[in-house]
Amino acid sequence: MKNDSVVVRFAPSPTGILHIGSVRTALFNWLYAKHNGGKFLLRIEDTDRIRSTHENTILIFDVLKWMGLDYDGEAVIQSSRIDRHKEVALNLIQNGKAYYCYCSQKELEEKKNKALAEGTQYKYDRICRDGNSKRSGTSPVIRLKSEIEGSTTISDMVQGDVTVSNSQLDDMVLLRSDGSPTYMLSVVVDDHDMEITHVIRGDDHLTNTFRQIQIYKACGWNIPKFGHIPLIYGQDGAKLSKRHGAVSTVEYKDLGYLPEAIFNYLLRLGWSHGDSEIISKEEAIEWFDFNNVGKSPSRFDINKLNYINAYYMRRMNEDKLLEYMQQFMKDTIVDECSKNRMRKGLKSLKDRAETVLDLAVSSMIYVMGPEKYSEECSKYNDSFHKDLLLEFLNSLESKDEQIYEQDLLNSAKELVLKKNVKLVELAQSLRSALTGKVVSPSVFEIMEILGKSESISRIKKFVSA
Ligand code: GLU
Ligand code: ZN
Repeated sequence: MKNDSVVVRFAPSPTGILHIGSVRTALFNWLYAKHNGGKFLLRIEDTDRIRSTHENTILIFDVLKWMGLDYDGEAVIQSSRIDRHKEVALNLIQNGKAYYCYCSQKELEEKKNKALAEGTQYKYDRICRDGNSKRSGTSPVIRLKSEIEGSTTISDMVQGDVTVSNSQLDDMVLLRSDGSPTYMLSVVVDDHDMEITHVIRGDDHLTNTFRQIQIYKACGWNIPKFGHIPLIYGQDGAKLSKRHGAVSTVEYKDLGYLPEAIFNYLLRLGWSHGDSEIISKEEAIEWFDFNNVGKSPSRFDINKLNYINAYYMRRMNEDKLLEYMQQFMKDTIVDECSKNRMRKGLKSLKDRAETVLDLAVSSMIYVMGPEKYSEECSKYNDSFHKDLLLEFLNSLESKDEQIYEQDLLNSAKELVLKKNVKLVELAQSLRSALTGKVVSPSVFEIMEILGKSESISRIKKFVSA
C-alpha cells in the first residue's frame, strides 16, 4: 500500500568518509520515499565541530549525486539549528520534564568507577531530579526526567516488536554545561521539525531509539515509525571495516565501479525480491518495501559486486563508457585516432573487465605500444620466435594499410603450416609484441584495430628489443 505522506531522511555525520553501509541506508530511505511517492530529506549532522570536516560534507553531496539519490528541498545543516535545540531543552525545564543537574564531572566519574569496581552497571543516580540540589559556582547540565516505571515498545519495520524496560534508561543529558545540545536532543528536535514520519537507519541506533522516544514523549510530540536495518558485515562475520577492503563509497567510485552497479548491489544486500539479482532503478522503486528487508546482517561479497558491475558495464552505451574510462586516463593524452581504436576494441575488452578501471588499463594497448614487456614475454623473444615474427612481418608488409582479422589469421595459419609449428607460438609472440603481455583478446583483432603501420612498428620494436 502506498502512502504519500511518508517523509524520511538520511542523516549522515561528516566526521569520516562516507561508509558504503551509510549509502545503503540512504538508498533504503530514498527507495521507501520514491515507492510511496513521499519525500526524502537530507540532514548533515555536523554538531561534532571538531571531527566534522567540510571535505567530508562535500563528499556526501557528491556521492548522493553520483548515485542518483536526489533529495527534496534544501539540505538541513544541524549546526545551524543549535538555538532551536536549546530552546526545546529550556521548554522542557519550564514544563517540569527536565531539570538542572549540578553534579561535577569528577563526582560522576567517581560514581562510575565505584560501580565498575562493584561490578554493577552505572546509571546516573538522579540526585538532582527533585530540583533541590542547586549549587552556585558550577554550570549545570540539563537532564531529561525520563520515565522510570513501565516499558517502551516499538514496532520496528525490520526488527518487529522490541521492548525495553524504562528502568534501564537513565536521565540523559540534553544540554551540556557549556550550553551545547547533545546528539540525542538534536536528532529528535530535527526529526520532529522536519516532520519525519519514518526513521530508517542502521541497527546500531536501536538503543538510542528508546532514549529518543523518551524525549518525544516529554515534548508531547508524535513518535515516528522506526526501521533499523542490520549493518553490513565482512565475509568473516565482523562488522565491515577497512580490514575487509574498501569501505569508502568514493573509493569504489575511484576503483571504477558504476553507480548503477553499486545501487543494484546495495539494494540486494539485505533486501530481496524473489530470485531477482539484476534490478533496475524503476523496478526497485516499484518493488521496494520493508516486508522483504532481512533481520540478519548481510555479508559484503566483492565477487558479487564485481559480477554486477561487469554486467552493467557490458550493457553501457559505448560513448558513455569511453567517457568514464577517460576519467581513469587523466595523465594520458588520447587523440582521436586512439579513441577510435579504443571504441573498436571495447567489445572484446569489455567481456574481460570487472571495473571501468580494468577496462581503462586494458584499453591502453590502443593508446600506445608496450613500454615494457611482462616477464612471460621473454620466452617469445628467442631466435626461434623472432624468426617466426620476421617471416610474418614479410607477409604483413605486402598488405594494404587496412588489415583484417580473418585475413591475418589465414596468413598466420599458412606460415605455421609451412614451418610446421603450432599457431599458438606465433600468436603468443605477436601478443607479446603488440601488448607487452601474454593474455589479451584475439591478436588478429588487435592488429586489425591498430592497422598495418602501427602493428609493424610494434613487432619490429619487440624483435629488436
Ligand atoms: N548521524 C548519525 C550517523 O551518522 C545517524 C543518525 C540517525 O540516522 O538518526 O550515524
Ligand atoms: Zn546531578
